[in-house]
Amino acid sequence: MEMQMELRPQPHVLLLPFPAQGHIKPMLALAQLLCHAGIHVTFLNTEHNHRQLTQRQALSARFPTLHFRSISDGLPSDHPRSISPNLMDIVSSLRSKTAPLLHQLLVSLMSKNDVGSAAQLPSLGCVITDGIMCFAIEAAEEVGIPVIALRTTSACSFWCYSCIPKLIEEAQLPFGDEDMDKMVSGIPGMECLLRRRDLPSICRVPTDHPVIQFFVEETRAITRASSLILNTFDDLESSILSHIASRFSKIYTIGPLHALLKSRVVDDNLSSSLRQEDRGCMMWLDSQRVGSVIFVSFGSLVKLTRVQLLEFWHGLVNSGSPFLWVIRSDVLWSDEAEQASHVTPAEVIVDWAPQEEVLAHEAVGGFLTHSGWNSTLEAIWAGVPMLCWPQLADQQVNSRWVGEVWKIGVDMKDTCDRSTVEKMIKALMKGEDKEVISRSVDHFAKLARTSVSKNGSSYLNLEKLIQDLRNL
Ligand code: UDP
Repeated sequence: MEMQMELRPQPHVLLLPFPAQGHIKPMLALAQLLCHAGIHVTFLNTEHNHRQLTQRQALSARFPTLHFRSISDGLPSDHPRSISPNLMDIVSSLRSKTAPLLHQLLVSLMSKNDVGSAAQLPSLGCVITDGIMCFAIEAAEEVGIPVIALRTTSACSFWCYSCIPKLIEEAQLPFGDEDMDKMVSGIPGMECLLRRRDLPSICRVPTDHPVIQFFVEETRAITRASSLILNTFDDLESSILSHIASRFSKIYTIGPLHALLKSRVVDDNLSSSLRQEDRGCMMWLDSQRVGSVIFVSFGSLVKLTRVQLLEFWHGLVNSGSPFLWVIRSDVLWSDEAEQASHVTPAEVIVDWAPQEEVLAHEAVGGFLTHSGWNSTLEAIWAGVPMLCWPQLADQQVNSRWVGEVWKIGVDMKDTCDRSTVEKMIKALMKGEDKEVISRSVDHFAKLARTSVSKNGSSYLNLEKLIQDLRNL
């Protein structure tokens, strides 16, 4: 393979993530894996996120074929970039302002004399776009370049999104609060499993709401990509993947990407966080008993009310387990932030943690999570059982799978009163189900390891992707 790399010119691929932490992270892992194989990658962040990505220079130094570029998201500089609750502002600006800029950039990168690149790059041969940035598919079609879509969610939630038009047609959407526990029919492969409360969060809004329209349009447009990349592995979601396969001629399942990166490239992954990590908590973890600590993190987007924060706090304290809690500076809805500044003691709280390392620490025995897909994969990989409190997007589906299909945790969906939090933490850390859950957790952690090891499914699928990019 080394020989081949020297003899053949390497392709040049543009990677375009959606501007949010949970999208940038897997896309950047893929970028590093491609660069490790010698492929030239232009990684295109919005200007805002380009500035936030502090390890950019270290990454470029480690991977000489990785080139960072930035593009305007079209929003005024003082506009809030947080996806929750500004998703539609960001989306419409990307579609109207960023799309034409992307078109120009593609033209420029395809011509040999692109002036913005620091290095002399081969002409651009392919775009890998986030699966909810389908204006990039249109831009790539206009300039006549192949485009692959990467969807950063689980296969099970992606399949739910794909079936939303059918659910609307069958009048299963919209539904009222009183129907939350009714079963959903008509999603192939998910019969008798999904209640309405387990559908993606957008199913809770009226069907003519722009946010549901956005996801319907993106899910339709993504089938125009030549192939689909998913950050999952075959042994985790094989039955659902077979349904998705009916809509795509080629699917590359190459997850968990963070683990593939660790096992194939470097053990010490450079951080792809947009926030400063507080490493002080690692020392505190060193002082705790094996398997005793609950790690609490709700990802980069979820917001809490002051009441919810306090309920969690009481539930955690009453559970008797030591805990490490990520409370982002922007976690509270802005009108409540002032009042809540002194509700919790500070020694076990961080603004942002090195989450992968925390989950891998032997002191951590449970993960109270919002069920974001990266967090879920990281917990599966680390073999940590989950207590799920999903809020947004795909999280409701993921948590159902964690609790009911994989049985690697419990799903606390739609409630967080202090007694439920306490009861569920005790069940996870000390209860009767602990044994059963631990066995499943070990089982899936092993499967994840097999998938990224030599000749495992994700390992081989990445090889195929690299080969296909070279053959374009
Ligand atoms: N994360 C982190 N430190 C934290 C909290 C989160 O590094 O304190 C990372 C986490 O490891 C994951 C990502 O942020 O890779 C969050 O992605 P996820 O899909 O779980 O949730 P989202 O933020 O998109 O809701």
